[in-house]
Amino acid sequence: MKSIQSNIKKAEKHLNNNDCIAVPTETVYGLAGNAYSNVSVKKIFKIKKRPLNNPLIVHYYNLDQLKKDCELNENFLKLYKEFSPGPITYILKLKKNSKISKFVNNKKKTLAVRFPKHYLFRKLLKKLNYPLAAPSANISSRLSSVKASDVKDEFGVRIKFILDGGKSKIGLESTILNLLNKPSVLRYGGLDISKIEKILNKKLLIKTNTKKKISPGLFSLHYSPGVPLRNNVKLPYKDEAFVLIKKRNIHLKNYYYLSRINDLDQAAKNLYSTLRKIKKDGYKKIAVEKIPNIGLGKTINDRLNRASKY
Ligand code: AMP
Ligand code: MG
Repeated sequence: MKSIQSNIKKAEKHLNNNDCIAVPTETVYGLAGNAYSNVSVKKIFKIKKRPLNNPLIVHYYNLDQLKKDCELNENFLKLYKEFSPGPITYILKLKKNSKISKFVNNKKKTLAVRFPKHYLFRKLLKKLNYPLAAPSANISSRLSSVKASDVKDEFGVRIKFILDGGKSKIGLESTILNLLNKPSVLRYGGLDISKIEKILNKKLLIKTNTKKKISPGLFSLHYSPGVPLRNNVKLPYKDEAFVLIKKRNIHLKNYYYLSRINDLDQAAKNLYSTLRKIKKDGYKKIAVEKIPNIGLGKTINDRLNRASKY
């Protein structure tokens, strides 16, 4: 308990000093900085090597905090009540008098916002009098980090503090919804979109592959393990690591299992750490068996398709 408090204090100190730190979330680890500070936000882009035109998600503790920066709408409030805090990001209209740094959203009139669920991140947000801009804690276009050691592997000494909150429960980034006009999905993520459709009582528009790149997280090469990857493979080549959705009775060195019993939530949680392990084990090529395209399987397939563009 004492160490939790002292770690939160350390985190707070770095953030008040306009530094960025890594924070645990239930989706993936974030690289966080004061969203009201140009200095902090510019540091995030620099450390991640992220193009300045790829806007950041801003993380809030509660609605009172959010109201200072964004206009709320009916669909948002319905979804917020049901799913936040949780793995869902909303695109909302930015208020004119908001203090959000213009570097966060590349001077757009909209803002991506989320209420993360991890208890440490919430404890931290509660103490601050500013929201945190926090993209995933990885070098741009690479795999996201799901534990503190991944963050270290990505950034080494360039990051001053990691708030260690164990392995991320969900293991995939948040689902992003544009709520400005007709609700549309910009990125598949950790919340199954059929659950969102149930609450809104309508089908969502799917804009995850739109040609107009309003969301550079949708660029075709993204979430890349850094080696070539093939999908829907029945039998791998000898030199490939083979990723399977469910455990088999075969014990081959190059077989990596995402779950024991074909469980897509578990597979989601293990996806990035498995791909990182494969790279560490020295494989130069990856083959993945067909993943069912339902529930979080849709998100897994989205990431694997983008990773295969390497
Ligand atoms: P990351 O923070 O790495 O999980 O990526 C955040 C994603 O949110 C990126 O794909 C951004 O392009 C997207 N995003 C952030 N702000 C906006 C916005 N105002 N409009 C559309 N997409 C956004
Ligand atoms: Mg990212």
